[in-house]
Amino acid sequence: MAEERRVGRVVAAHGSRFEVELADGRRLSCVTRGKKTGVACGDRVEITPTSAEGGVIERVLPRASLLYRSDPQRQKIIAANVTQGVLVVAAVPSFHEEIINRVLVALEAQQLKCVIVLNKADLPETAAAEERLALYRELGYPLVRLSAKTDVSPLRPYLAREVSVLVGQSGMGKSTLVNALVPGARAATREISTALDSGRHTTTHATLYHLDAESDLIDSPGLQEFGLHHLRPEDVAAAMREFRPLLGHCRFHNCLHRVEPGCAIREAVEAGRISPRRFAAYQAIVGEIVDWRARRYG
Ligand code: GDP
Ligand code: ZN
Repeated sequence: MAEERRVGRVVAAHGSRFEVELADGRRLSCVTRGKKTGVACGDRVEITPTSAEGGVIERVLPRASLLYRSDPQRQKIIAANVTQGVLVVAAVPSFHEEIINRVLVALEAQQLKCVIVLNKADLPETAAAEERLALYRELGYPLVRLSAKTDVSPLRPYLAREVSVLVGQSGMGKSTLVNALVPGARAATREISTALDSGRHTTTHATLYHLDAESDLIDSPGLQEFGLHHLRPEDVAAAMREFRPLLGHCRFHNCLHRVEPGCAIREAVEAGRISPRRFAAYQAIVGEIVDWRARRYG
């Protein structure tokens, strides 16, 4: 007799295999039915158990949020049903400010909160990095300075009663942070040579950890780039939180805030009320979307 369908949660996604946790805590290794793709860590799914250890994912239940990025070929789901992003940066290797803005836009587009963690606070280069990050703190994103190697307690209050997804470039100390927050997580910690100042990520899949009964943490693979061409330019403008009060005040109702005359955003930049760094980030993201659409749709 076939087993009845059950509802579970995807706690690990490795390519086409998914670990699904049932309400009773049992975990089944599942595949999707047919060629169905697009299942993400954090998804609530309906499955049919096929054995004591395995099952088939029949359906993904509606998502409260979905964080994803695009690369030229496809969209990559990072995690589903999270309530916030935790963006990990460090002074060494140097972080790309563009990644910060892109992650913030992706999170804001899903109405998700973001905490920025400045890791490796023990390094002397941290002070300068913190200065660069002051811009984001002024925009209202909490900035938590810590050293994952010695003490992660400054971050804990931010993780309470949230489903957080950790994102960051490789080498920022995400694995070290996970190991410290979740005893036994065994996220592969990799000693990278600082001389390389880059490297390949070792985490190839997303994993959900329970911090306590009400708080979860999803670790996602390290990022090198973060494409956003799945968004519309107006989504990007609305995702820049300091642009929001000015939207609708440009001369043209469909202003993209690029070269149009009478642009309220550009005027705010010239008047010093919006940071030129944020305006440049906006231009880069929207420029990429416009170019991508031109190539795709002619
Ligand atoms: P991931 O690629 O983001 O997962 O980064 P890892 O956790 O593998 O860390 C990358 C490198 O940064 C390793 O050499 C870690 O030992 C080092 N690292 C991580 N956290 C800290 C920290 O708080 N202070 C210092 N100085 N180094 C750290
Ligand atoms: Zn405008």
